[in-house]
Amino acid sequence: KLRPRLHAVANLVFAKHKVADIGSDHAYLAAFLVEQGHTDAAIVGEVAKGPLENAKHTVAAQSLGQRIDCRLADGLAAIRPEDGVESVVIAGMGGLLIKKILNDQRQLGPFKQLVLQPNTDQDALRAWLVENDYAITKEEMVKEGVHRYEIIVAEPGKQTLSEADLTFGPFLRLEKGPIFLAKWTHEKNRLQLVLDRLAEANQQTSTKYLEVKEMIDKIEKELA
Ligand code: SAM
Repeated sequence: KLRPRLHAVANLVFAKHKVADIGSDHAYLAAFLVEQGHTDAAIVGEVAKGPLENAKHTVAAQSLGQRIDCRLADGLAAIRPEDGVESVVIAGMGGLLIKKILNDQRQLGPFKQLVLQPNTDQDALRAWLVENDYAITKEEMVKEGVHRYEIIVAEPGKQTLSEADLTFGPFLRLEKGPIFLAKWTHEKNRLQLVLDRLAEANQQTSTKYLEVKEMIDKIEKELA
């Protein structure tokens, strides 16, 4: 059984698509998808030996070796054109790292579906998707423990996103669900403390102060 974050990621993968999970660590996602019959076959890519061993362990323990191929590789180098990968999952990493991995699509892309779960820099990742002719088709937020995670699904296509769409997510900000509201209220309060401290240090004219202030204004406008 998967925990809420990976469970939500798994549920967004198109059924019957051949999947590659890049940076999979334990291969829990691939094992779940294959065991559920959601996916027939999956490739698991890992850049580090320890996590690759974790993946192989899961696959062996569940006797899924025929259907899940664990490969030691940097990013999309785990995928070969003949694999016919349709959905690429990249979860549990910073948005900038995900962007860097996706930038190396070579002749592989565009993939029919990307399911991304960036822990940070979601705005930069959304901007990358738009610039590289992927359209965001779905977004979800999920809470696990104290953390709130954003999941972004994209498919080949054109899309124009506003500044606010990039920051808050075009679908997430339309829906403004409870996890979204909690995340941005929390972020606003955190930034307000930063601002207060800068003010105490007489830094009201510093670039940092103005940047933080601008972000707070942006969040307030979004939540209004
Ligand atoms: N995807 C899993 C999840 O969401 O629970 C595991 C996330 S884990 C925090 C990040 C994993 O990405 C690590 O195991 C790390 O070795 C791997 N990783 C980082 N950079 C990578 C790259 N360029 N190519 C493949 N794997 C990478």
